[in-house]
Order: sequence, then C-alpha cells, then structure tokens
Amino acid sequence: MHINKNLSKKIICWYDNNKRTLPWRVKFNSPKKLYYRLLSEFMLQQTQVKTVLPYFKRFTKEIETLTRLSTTNKRKIFKLWEGLGYYRRATNLLKTAKIITKENNSILPKNLNEIKKLPGIGDYTGNILLALVYNQPRLGIDGNVKRVFSRILNKHENKLNFEKIIEKNKKKLFNSKRNSDFAEALMEFGALICKPRDPHCKICPIKKTCKFYGSGNTKKLTDRIRANKLSYNIFCYLNKKKQIGLTKNNNLGFLKEYNLPIVRKKLGKKSFKNWNFLCNYKNSISNKKLDINLYYKFANRIPKDLNWHSLYNKRVFVPTFTKKIFRQVENLY
Ligand code: SF4
Repeated sequence: MHINKNLSKKIICWYDNNKRTLPWRVKFNSPKKLYYRLLSEFMLQQTQVKTVLPYFKRFTKEIETLTRLSTTNKRKIFKLWEGLGYYRRATNLLKTAKIITKENNSILPKNLNEIKKLPGIGDYTGNILLALVYNQPRLGIDGNVKRVFSRILNKHENKLNFEKIIEKNKKKLFNSKRNSDFAEALMEFGALICKPRDPHCKICPIKKTCKFYGSGNTKKLTDRIRANKLSYNIFCYLNKKKQIGLTKNNNLGFLKEYNLPIVRKKLGKKSFKNWNFLCNYKNSISNKKLDINLYYKFANRIPKDLNWHSLYNKRVFVPTFTKKIFRQVENLY
C-alpha cells in the first residue's frame, strides 16, 4: 500500500496551525509530561475529549504529580473519577502509577512488550504513550487513524492490516524528527478534518493524494448524509381535555410506537391552512437527522387513523422525542 512521502509533513504542518489547546499537551521536555499523558490516555479510553476535559483539570488540581497519585487512596481517586464511568480504568491507573514510581524509578518502560505489562495498557495505549513520551516512531491506531488511512487508500477498514501498512511505510511516515507530534496530529486530523460523516475535503491539505477524494466518494458520502437529513412536519391535534391525537400509522419505518402524525414530503401552502406554527425542532433518530417543524391546532374531531390520548397518560408508550414535544405543547394550555 503506497503512502505519500509528504503525508507526515503536511499533517504536522496542519496540526501546528490548527490543533486544539488541550491541558495534557504539555511541552515535550515538561516534567509533567509522563503524568499528564498517562492520565489523559486512561481517561480518554472510550470517552470523548470534551467529556474528559473537566475531569482532567479537577484531577490534576487535586493530585499534582504521578508520585502523589501513587500514594493517593483509591476512594479519593474514585471520587475524582465519579461520573466518568469505567471505574476499572481508575483502578488500573493507580496500579500503573504505583509500579512506575515504586518499581521503575518513575520511568515509563521504553519497550512495547514491557509497557503492555502495566495494568490497563494494551496495544493502542502502549504505542501512543511510547510515541508521546519518547518520540518513538509509532502510531496509536484508534478509530480516527484507521479512518484516515482507509480514506487515503480508498479501501474499507476491514480490508486493511494497519500494523503492516505502518511497518511497510515506516520510513515515509516517520521522516520528520517529530514522531510524537505526528502520532498526535494524525488523530487530531481524523477528529477535526477527516471526520466520519462529513470530511472537510475542500480544506484538506492531503486531498491531492487522497484516493477517497479522487474517486468522488466524498460526494457520495455527503449526498447520503444529506439524504438522511430530512425535513418533517408534525401536526398536533389538541382538544380542551388536554388530549393529543396519536397514530400508529406513520409508515416511516423508524417510528414504531404511538406517535404524532408526521409528514416527510414537502407540502403545499394549503396543507398548513388553520394550523399554527409552534417551533422548529432538531433531533436524531436511528441515525437520521430530523429537522422538524411543529404545528398545532385545537379541534373537537380528528382523522380516523388518530386516537385521543391524554398528554399525561404514562401508560401509552411514546418515544422520548415525542415526550419532549408533549412538554412543549403543554405550554399552550
Ligand atoms: S481529502 Fe477528505 S477523505 Fe481524503 S483525507 Fe482529506 S478529509 Fe479525508
């Protein structure tokens, strides 16, 4: 698999100008580097950056160094971790901090097999820590990195052996001295530019050599996303008893339960006669982005395929998004 020799230079250049300021991105020679990188990598496992940020800040304010962490009791660590979930990560972090400080002279192992012996460190975390802490020519192969490579090569992720590709192209990939920055830049690039649903190909610095872009697949992807971004009109029939008209016949495929009458197709002006516009509402259901205009009217009678239901009847099962609409409609009384 051919990787362009300028890939790392272009990605690093983009990163220098566009990277997010994140508290764990300290200078390469900072004494905080090992502790911050270790803590952030544990926190970021299965968790998004924006969720981790406040936890990381609170944690490092309370526990300032790796040595302090290694002597902190588990209950305090759990308290600081509260809400972040996957508490096993916190337990493993503490164990790893103890081993590094007490048995390894506060030095992170420099070898992948050795680092993977530490609790909670597998292939991904091991590789990325070696890159970030020691500037070793390695990549953490996360979802972002897999996506970038699969698009550059225009091959499905399942058909690629990423370790092999990296090994084969090592000289081309790691041809700057900034291995640590490249490892981080590639993940950042996947998160901010080569995004899963809407890659920003127009401003992408590597689009000329990207086979996905060259093949026109970007357009197909955005067309598919656009087709999934659909406009709907919802019509709420209301009566004086605080009841609302619900139906089971939406024929939309993704709303199986009782629901409000919802219409996808474009409607002419006549269809809105006697209806009052309430609000615009955005939601996602079953991978579809819905852009909904909500209308209401008070009526004594409703179409045959609708039934009156009390806005407060908890026995009728309706989806969460419909319940939210109920709350909006309640304000009309
Ligand atoms: S051109 Fe588009 S698909 Fe290709 S790497 Fe850039 S953002 Fe990703």
